[in-house]
Amino acid sequence: MSPAEFQDLWQQVSRQPVAPLDDPAFGSGGALDLEIIARARHLKSSLFDGAVQAIAPLYVSSICKERCTYCNYRAGSNDPSLRRTRLSLDELRREVEFLVESRPLRAVELVYASDPQLTPDDLCRHVELTSSILQKHGASTVGLSAEPMSVAGYRRLRGAGLTFSVVWMETYDQERYAACHPGTHVKTDFFYRLDSYERMLEAGLDGVGYGVLGGLGPWRRDWSMLILHQQWLRRRCGRGPDIVGIPRLKHAPGSAFQQIDAPPADSQFRALVALHNSLFPQVRPFVSTREDFDMCLQLASGGGCLFTFNCSTVPGGYTLPNRGAQFTTGDYDALLFAPRVRAAGHRVLWDWRPQPCYTDLV
Ligand code: SF4
Repeated sequence: MSPAEFQDLWQQVSRQPVAPLDDPAFGSGGALDLEIIARARHLKSSLFDGAVQAIAPLYVSSICKERCTYCNYRAGSNDPSLRRTRLSLDELRREVEFLVESRPLRAVELVYASDPQLTPDDLCRHVELTSSILQKHGASTVGLSAEPMSVAGYRRLRGAGLTFSVVWMETYDQERYAACHPGTHVKTDFFYRLDSYERMLEAGLDGVGYGVLGGLGPWRRDWSMLILHQQWLRRRCGRGPDIVGIPRLKHAPGSAFQQIDAPPADSQFRALVALHNSLFPQVRPFVSTREDFDMCLQLASGGGCLFTFNCSTVPGGYTLPNRGAQFTTGDYDALLFAPRVRAAGHRVLWDWRPQPCYTDLV
């Protein structure tokens, strides 16, 4: 997307957010929200019949060159308990085997800080190793959350076994983005990040994830931009992102923020996710353990989402005594919490593949 095309969309949502986000009643928990939530549940149920796709994040490195002001892993973090770590291949193997052999998980998302020592070859080795362990159990879903790459980089990772990749846009508000991402590294380049979705789609990954960090920017405009960006990518590429990240900003120990301005409140958050579900029911929210378990169940209403189990944001957090998390999460152990997900009326899919959302599906 060119800067001029982006500016057109941003000015459009700055004049007026996309309906019904422009309605003052949106997010109040009233009749408008209930109608959107009911419609989203109906659409999700008819497509997914309550099925949720289980996934676990696996942090590989907490060594970071970036300075995102809201993150404990930023260069310059002042968290005294933080012990930065990069997993060796043996440690990575242990972590994957824990999730796959002592838990029923069959989809793993490899998560990276922007570690200056890790090369594309390293990432390919990590993906190959994770994929090979999953394949022994008949599965193959390996995801990636890392700094944006070139088309060639994504193609190499796809060849190594990568099935999906997520890049969270954080906020579409360029001024706010610049203020929260100081420095001179990859993350400071707003348009390189914005264009990563086109690159991931061009590389032919089965799954592509987008999303904003709720509360970093103005949420009515950010979620309006998500909607317009999805529509723009579908027109331009014939396909849009099929995963939507829905993290809300939480205080992190070494964050530069003294306080967080205005993350969407619970009723606003539920309405935002339901609105996206009702507009793009094939796109699956990445239900995050930043939320309490009851909220996760509400967000999963009707199915058709990624549901996070066993979340540690510490590299080695499953099998090693490493300390210093990126941010606080719930840790919903698959053995303990999958029965509760089922009791809430969902089916838990352990072995699943990303499903591209082509334009002719909508
Ligand atoms: S959000 Fe990611 S890139 Fe930014 S400081 Fe944290 S780990 Fe590094």
